[in-house]
Amino acid sequence: MGVRILVVEDEIEIADFIVRGLREEGFTVESKLNGTDGWHAMQTEPWDLILLDWWLPDEDGITLIHRLREAGDLTPIMLLTARDAVSDRVKGLDAGADDYLCKPFAFEELLARVRSLNRRKDQRSAMVLSYYDLTADISTHRVERAGQRLDLTAKEYSLLTFFMRRTGEVLSRTRIYEQVWDQRYDGISNTLEVHIKELRRKLEMHGDRLIQTVRGQGYLFDKSEQTE
Ligand code: CA
Repeated sequence: MGVRILVVEDEIEIADFIVRGLREEGFTVESKLNGTDGWHAMQTEPWDLILLDWWLPDEDGITLIHRLREAGDLTPIMLLTARDAVSDRVKGLDAGADDYLCKPFAFEELLARVRSLNRRKDQRSAMVLSYYDLTADISTHRVERAGQRLDLTAKEYSLLTFFMRRTGEVLSRTRIYEQVWDQRYDGISNTLEVHIKELRRKLEMHGDRLIQTVRGQGYLFDKSEQTE
C-alpha cells in the first residue's frame, strides 16, 4: 500500500491544488473540507500523514491536533496556515504538529516537506532496538524482555540502549562512563558498577545474563559469551 495522506482544508481551491499535485506524485490522497469530517477520517482510517489547515469552519486545526495527541495518535501532522508570526508557529508545534507551512506556498516546498515527514515516520517506526527476547522502543522508552515490561530508571535505560547499539563489542568502563554519563571517568567511582549491577538484576529476572564482564577490559553485551 502506498503512502496515504489526509488533507483537511476548507478552501476548495487549495485543497484541490494539493490533492491533485500529491496524486500526480503517486500518493493516495483524500480530502475533507471541515474539522468534523476530518476528525472522522482520522478516527476511522489509517494515515501516514495529515495536512491540516489551522482555520476550519467548525473545529480548528489546533484543537484537532490536541485531541489526536491526547488519544496517543502520533501520525505526523503538517499544519497549513496563513499565520506567519513566530508565536503562531510555536503554538502549532507545541500543540503537537510536526511541521508548519505558511500559505501561500509553492507545491515543490509542500512536496519536499511531505517527503521529509514521511522519511521521519519510517525512521520512527524503525526505532525499536531488539536483541533476542529484549526490545527497547526509542520513542516511548518502553523496554521488554520475554514480553515482560522492565521498570528502568532513565540512566539504566540510557545504559541499556548504549549496550544494545553495540552488541558484540567489548566496551571499556571509560568509554561507557564518558558516553552515558557525559562526564570524565576518574577510574575510582563505582557509579558504573552500581548501575550495571541493578540493570543486570532487572534484565535477569526474565532470562540469562546479557551484560558480560570481560576481565581487565570492560563489558560485552552478549547472550552466550560467559567470559567470567
Ligand atoms: Ca481555512
